[in-house]
Formats: sequence, structure tokens, C-alpha cells
Amino acid sequence: MKCYCVVNFREPLQEMDQPTPTPQGTQVLLKVRAAGVCHSDIHLWEGGYDLGQGRTLSLKDRGVSLPLTMGHETVGAVVAAGPDAQGLATDRNYLVYPWIGCGKCASCAAGMENHCTAPACLGVHRAGGYADHIVVPHPRYLIDIGGLDPAQIAPYACSGLTTYSALKKIGAEVYREHPVVIFGAGGLGLMSLTLIKALGGAGAIVVDIDPAKRQAALDAGALAALDAGALAAIDGAAPDAAQQIVKAAGGKPVQAAIDLVGAPATTSLAFDFLTKGGKLIIVGLFGGGSTWPIALIPMKALSIIGSYVGNLAELKELMELVRAGKVPPMPVHRHALAEADSVLASLREGKVVGRAVLTVD
Ligand SMILES: [Zn+2]
Ligand SMILES: [Zn+2]
Repeated sequence: MKCYCVVNFREPLQEMDQPTPTPQGTQVLLKVRAAGVCHSDIHLWEGGYDLGQGRTLSLKDRGVSLPLTMGHETVGAVVAAGPDAQGLATDRNYLVYPWIGCGKCASCAAGMENHCTAPACLGVHRAGGYADHIVVPHPRYLIDIGGLDPAQIAPYACSGLTTYSALKKIGAEVYREHPVVIFGAGGLGLMSLTLIKALGGAGAIVVDIDPAKRQAALDAGALAALDAGALAAIDGAAPDAAQQIVKAAGGKPVQAAIDLVGAPATTSLAFDFLTKGGKLIIVGLFGGGSTWPIALIPMKALSIIGSYVGNLAELKELMELVRAGKVPPMPVHRHALAEADSVLASLREGKVVGRAVLTVD
């Protein structure tokens, strides 16, 4: 099998030939049909996250070993299964749940494998979808997509699931009644807009520095798209930045924000405009340190909630919505698998509007 691997951090992905595995026990071997290229793959490729105050989180120290086949948004067709893998149809396309845990701890037992402290995620700790084949450890991580388009469905495993789980943390009683502020109009931002609509939400105000992405957000139904540059949200907020956001929200108090950037400027601006009892859901991994005025956290009764992907049950719920036709397709750009490195590079340069997906015929 061919795979496109990180051999050294921050160096181009290399095409490698590896023996196609024979599935053992409950394992399932799939032929990859589509593999989404996600922004978090850039952090993986870089080998770490910026924690602020000059500290970094090294992925090498967190169990990521090289060479690594990235790719955690995968749809594949079953080609072989181990003797203990039951109930799968060959030649059907399945969406792969990649956020797999140890299977033994309390989080895993509670169905929260995405909170496992000994994770074995596909495309992070184990080989993922930037390849023509992928091994999935158990059929329960596979969701039948029927006749749906693999390239359209693959991104639900991360960008769809992540935004769905973030919206659930806000709660339907809030997002149905109040516009949500979303920082970042990349793949996740557009997905959030789509899901807010699908879930009967009141809509969203999007903040981004890139005019093309703001336009894409407006096209996807954003109530307003504000220029993060004009809000000076990059180097410390403009004095009236919070008021501008409240104005875009129809002058009403802002109850919830989803920060898909996760930078000091975006988190502090959200802190300023959220009303009492508001929720800030932080998803983005841009990094850095924050200097929230701590006394205001209790005084405003703010909830600052980190959200990391989502669990298997949430992915199944999301796929129910998709199958019911409630989630309009989002823009995807298809590329050949062999273009994995150049696609990752253009994402790194911020050139991808919507979602880039590697496809295999
Ligand atoms: Zn991802
Ligand atoms: Zn676990």
C-alpha cells in the first residue's frame, strides 16, 4: 500500500510503500475513498503546539512517533476483516470514527473516548487516511454512509464532529434563541454555519481576517461577517471591538461564542463581549497564553469550555442529521491522494477556502 507520511517534522510528506496489512481479530481493512486534510494536521506536521510563555507541547512526548500517516477524516470501503469483526458489508463505504481511546479507562467506558488519556487516534497515534488503505481496530468505529459521496462525508469525522460537539456544549436552548459568534471562517467555521442552520439555530456572526473567507461565510448564511483585522483582534482589540460585535448581533447580549482560532486576541475579545452567564467554547489550537481578568470570570459567571473533537455517539447523531438531508453539503475541493503534501502546504498558507479532500478512485 502507498501512504504519504510525516518522516521528519516540518519536512515535506514522503510517499512510502508499505505492506498492506492483513486484519487480525476485530480489525477491519478499508480501501480509502476520501481523506480530509484538516488544519490540526498542520500542528501534527509541525510536531507540537504553542502553550504560551515560551512553552510548547511536543507531540513526540505525547506518543506521536514517526513516520506517521496523518489523516483522521476518512471514508473507506471494507476490503477485508479479521475473524472477530462482524456485521460489515464489503464494498460499502464507511465513515471512520478516528478518536479512539485505550478502551479500558473510565472515559472510554463512559463512551468519551475523545477524553481518554492514553489515546490511540487514527492519523495521530496510529496510521490514518493519507494512504490507499487504512486499518480500523473494530467495526464499531465504522458508520455506513450508504450512497452518499465519500469526499463530502469524510470531513464530518473531525470538522463536522468538532463543531457539532461545540454546539451541543452551548446547548439548543441558547443557539436556537441567540446568534452565536464564531471566530474563524475556515473549514470549521463554514461547518459551524451549516450545522447551526441544520439544528434550527438563530444564526451566527463570523469574525475572520480574510475577505474571501468572510464572503464564503456570508454565502453559507452568516448573519454578518466582521473583519478581525478591523477589530484589531490580532494585536489587541480595538476599543469598540466588543460593541461592534454586539451591534452585529442585533444589539442584544451575546450568550455564546465558538473560538475556532484559539489565540490570545480572540479569547480575550470573546471574554469582553460575552454577557453574564455566557459560554466561550474554545476549539482552535492556535496557541499562546491568556490574561483573563480572573475576578470577572465569577462576576460574569462565564463558562470557558474546551472542546476536543467529539465522541462516537455524537458522530452517529450527526450522521443521522446528514442522512436525513438536514445538513446541506459544504464546499469541498478534491485532490488526488498523491497531492497530499501540496494540499497540506496550501492549507498552511491559508489558501484553502472550504475543505480540501484527498480522493482515491
Ligand atoms: Zn481534524
Ligand atoms: Zn481510555
